[in-house]
Amino acid sequence: MDLFDVVVIGGGPVGLATAYEIAKTNSKVIVLEQNNFFNQAGSSNDLARMYTEEFMADLAVEAMGYWDDLERDAGVSLRWMSGLLNFGDRDVGKDTPEGTLLGPIVHLNRLEMAYNILTAEEIQRRYPFKNLPDKWIGVFAPDNGIINVPLLLRSLLTLAKHYSAQARQHTEVKSIVPDDHDSSKWKVKAVSHGKDEVVFLTKKIVITAGAYVNHILQPSFGITLDLDIWEMVASYFNSNAGPNGTVFPSMWFQFAPDHEDRSRLFYGFPTVPWGPPNLVRIAIDAATRRIKDPDDRQTNVINPRDIQDTQNFVRDHVKGVDCTVPAYTLTCLQTNVFDNMFVLDFIPEEYLRGGRENSVVVFTAGWAMKFVPLLGKALAELALNGRSRYAMEEFSITRKNPATGKGIIQHSLGRFSAAQSSFSVDSQGRGSSLRGYSNT
Ligand SMILES: Cc1cc2nc3c(=O)[nH]c(=O)nc-3n(C[C@H](O)[C@H](O)[C@H](O)COP(=O)(O)OP(=O)(O)OC[C@H]3O[C@@H](n4cnc5c(N)ncnc54)[C@H](O)[C@@H]3O)c2cc1C
Repeated sequence: MDLFDVVVIGGGPVGLATAYEIAKTNSKVIVLEQNNFFNQAGSSNDLARMYTEEFMADLAVEAMGYWDDLERDAGVSLRWMSGLLNFGDRDVGKDTPEGTLLGPIVHLNRLEMAYNILTAEEIQRRYPFKNLPDKWIGVFAPDNGIINVPLLLRSLLTLAKHYSAQARQHTEVKSIVPDDHDSSKWKVKAVSHGKDEVVFLTKKIVITAGAYVNHILQPSFGITLDLDIWEMVASYFNSNAGPNGTVFPSMWFQFAPDHEDRSRLFYGFPTVPWGPPNLVRIAIDAATRRIKDPDDRQTNVINPRDIQDTQNFVRDHVKGVDCTVPAYTLTCLQTNVFDNMFVLDFIPEEYLRGGRENSVVVFTAGWAMKFVPLLGKALAELALNGRSRYAMEEFSITRKNPATGKGIIQHSLGRFSAAQSSFSVDSQGRGSSLRGYSNT
């Protein structure tokens, strides 16, 4: 049987970036994906993600260099630096860990990044918004952009293979167990195309299975992570194709107070050159449906309240965009732990069932797309060298929620344990991406 240096479980952007970085060191690596590569089942579907600097500002600035390197290696631009307009009520989020509209300014100043402040009137002159309260303001920051997600995924897979990584789709990992004869090796047990059992022998493992991480951790180690998975809804709406058409000059994010206990945090993208013309994505940065396991996802129904809230916002505040029937709507799983940060760490030795310390790395949770090249580097360093300066305390798997004293790891008999969980999934989940503003 072939012996791999590293098996990467999960072929989303983070797993592909990890395989790419490992392959560049001439190590023998394979990435296993349960579905097709570039599938709709995880967190990386659809056309675009925001590339913003406010969230964990220092790390994001470092990630910029890695994006440049990746774009050079791929020979294509993977980002469209359109800038970002944050606008709304300056007091929303005050006295909360989520932070406020003006919160990022301290980081923009410190990092000497450009921005300018706009009045409500200026916002409405430059963007197709209407009926904004007079006291609202905007912060436009040009060093933000839109990630071309389909091209990113394809470039990473092509590059990983170019550097001799192997890649298998339709290969679902069921469990990992230490090798009976040599505890420095692991057997990764998988099912290929839903029927054939296959085993991969490896020295190290990186688990990048996103929301599905517990499907591997529970049967392998008897633990699960306390996840709060949001079924986020996003819609594409028709915009006026002209004459006198509707153009959003950049991405935007609206900060507004809740109304009747419903979130009014909305965001939007301009029409992207790699997508259909005259369609704009407008969505709510919140989720009515929160689940503990991706198997509980509604696969053929989309939460109507989240769409309705967005349609009402478009009707009341956006000019030249047709709110009546979205052109199309999709859902995407956003995986959170209690503080909305990443989990980026080794599985502690006590759970490894005799396997060697620091040999199984896991990444899940948080808002990861803008950090993909940096995370690939961090996970490759952890797997190959046993350490990475990006595996910070804030991302430790053993950190505890100061409010409840509970950790992220749960000892569990099933895939999740509602009794042990810190999360109530009854209310609308909201503002998770904002929470990162205060966390730099
Ligand atoms: C609506 C929405 C908006 C977002 N906006 C932003 C944004 O603006 N900026 C930002 O930075 N981030 C954003 N995010 C978050 C970002 O999209 C995710 O953090 C990122 O996609 C996670 O990538 P991943 O590779 O970790 O996981 P995924 O893309 O989910 O990949 C995991 C892969 O593992 C595979 N897998 C799972 N289990 C197994 C198994 N047992 N065997 C083999 N394969 C397996 C899955 O099929 C999947 O392909 C957003 C997320 C959502 C939902």
